[in-house]
Amino acid sequence: MFVLLAVLAVAPQQSVADTSPFRALPLPAATGVRSASGAPGPQYWQQRADYTITATLDTGANVLSGTERIRYWNRSPDALAFVWVQLDQNLFAPGSITSLLNQPPLRFAGGVVFDFGGKGFVGGMTVDRFHAGGRPLATTVTGTMMRVELARPLAPDSAITFEVAWHFPVPPYGGGRMGRVGSRFYELGQWYPRMAVYDDVNGWNTLPYIGAGEFYLEYGDFNVALTLPAGYVVAATGSVSNPLAVWTAQQRARLERARRSSEAIAIITKAEATANGARHTTGTKTWRFTTPNVRDFAWAAGPDLRWDASGWNGILIQTFYHPDAAPWEEANKMVRAALSHFSETWLTYPWPQFSTVEGLVEGMEYPMITFCPSLEKREDQFWVLAHELGHEWFPMTVGSDERRYPWMDEGFNTFIDYGAAEAYFKGTAYGDTVRRELLAAATTTAIPGIEQPLITKPTEVRELYWTAYQKPALMLTVLRDAVLGRDEFARALREYTRRWRFKHPQPADFYRTFANVTGRDLDWFWRGWVLTTARLDQAVDSVARGAGDTTLVHLSNRGQMVLPLTLELRYADGTSETRQLPVEMWYLGSRFTYRVSSAKQITGVVVDPRQVYPDIERSNNSWVR
Ligand SMILES: [Zn+2]
Repeated sequence: MFVLLAVLAVAPQQSVADTSPFRALPLPAATGVRSASGAPGPQYWQQRADYTITATLDTGANVLSGTERIRYWNRSPDALAFVWVQLDQNLFAPGSITSLLNQPPLRFAGGVVFDFGGKGFVGGMTVDRFHAGGRPLATTVTGTMMRVELARPLAPDSAITFEVAWHFPVPPYGGGRMGRVGSRFYELGQWYPRMAVYDDVNGWNTLPYIGAGEFYLEYGDFNVALTLPAGYVVAATGSVSNPLAVWTAQQRARLERARRSSEAIAIITKAEATANGARHTTGTKTWRFTTPNVRDFAWAAGPDLRWDASGWNGILIQTFYHPDAAPWEEANKMVRAALSHFSETWLTYPWPQFSTVEGLVEGMEYPMITFCPSLEKREDQFWVLAHELGHEWFPMTVGSDERRYPWMDEGFNTFIDYGAAEAYFKGTAYGDTVRRELLAAATTTAIPGIEQPLITKPTEVRELYWTAYQKPALMLTVLRDAVLGRDEFARALREYTRRWRFKHPQPADFYRTFANVTGRDLDWFWRGWVLTTARLDQAVDSVARGAGDTTLVHLSNRGQMVLPLTLELRYADGTSETRQLPVEMWYLGSRFTYRVSSAKQITGVVVDPRQVYPDIERSNNSWVR
């Protein structure tokens, strides 16, 4: 009794640093904007930017020039004396951070190489005009960001219209995310001045565009007119609003059939594409696209593109590719399968069309459109198509901050991609084993002392393939298969996507949503996987007879990561059974004795028998009598 009182008297002082893996995560306090349940709070706000853009592509000089009206809505509680605008083309400006760093290209598995620079190309965005109310505004360009001073502060709940004019030379290779092939083919992203995000967490989000970190953008409506040589076919974010002016009667008729077809229908056949490429045309044509509620706009154009289309649940699925892109005949079927899989498993695709364009970009996502390469292996082709499409969920629909948290878009997306690949290749050796790649990646890329925590900014990460893609996908796979179970996991991830669709979630919103939906304290899980590079080493130390029918299985947790433990018991009569031990077994320390009551003699014990964990030392996982 006396001892117990003494313990009670000491405990609350917390004089010893708490190093338990179960201590609470250091999260920002919940607010009216972001509630403690992980949902947007009653005072949630985000800014809005609507764009009306008119641009002309000069294919002779390879210069894109445009005028742009931005209607910017201040829904924050703050009066804004200035705004920040992103000029991503300044990645290629003389003396840019990227050109000075001369970063080596990033290598992904499968041999894909991403060079985030312009391969020596020097260009950059020239802003010819930035006006409001007919008056020029003072601007200061700092690399890829530009501050614009307002004539008077923009009050809460009010809007301002900016009139902007700009031009830039189109780089042949735009950091792996855009580019062109001569004057014959263009993939345009990061091509117009875009509003930076102003939010409740960082205020203005002004981290520069260096290459590895992607984008954080406001939602808004787009109205875009693109003027190009008359013979070019254009694919873009949004829907074509002047079909009579840009499509032939035959193309429109084929498209009508395609909308109701589960099989791909050629809107432009291979023979037509080849002939179009050889034809000499004069003059220009203006393509008009509109869409509500997207966070970006991209487009591609060329004279000799093939075009297939099919329909799924009223959504038009379009694939554009060059006559020599051999595996692309199946691309439409692949995209349709992945789009239906993602829609049925997670959240319905929210826009009326999706397009993917084959070309020089190694794989890049934009709202309603992606750029993918032509790859020889069918499995690789599916993977890149499904991966870029999966970005329509993360981050195009769930609008997270990609510049800081690639695991919340690349990682969540990679996780759902494995599901799509398993479904498409079901019953094949590839489909049944593809997810094993995650554990293989852990062994080859999560090197102790070199690995960096998942939460690290992408521009500071040396092994982005692991940190941003494979590790978060493995994390969610382990969470699903070993901690929550499929149904609870799916319920929580669906709720997160539903709560944060077309909004800006932060990591804490994600953690809190999972805790609240599943009723499980998962702080220990996120600490091990997101905030640290903790390693898992579960072990069986020894097995001994206890009193009566009891056998004592002495287990230990020799690494810093904690997880529940799966134990296989093998008996002398040749039978075996599996026991699931909860993570709470490690509450009191790193050793745990599990008591088995059975008249049968235990002859063997295996920890993690199905090998679903990235256990760094498997030799201590089993015991044999
Ligand atoms: Zn990606």
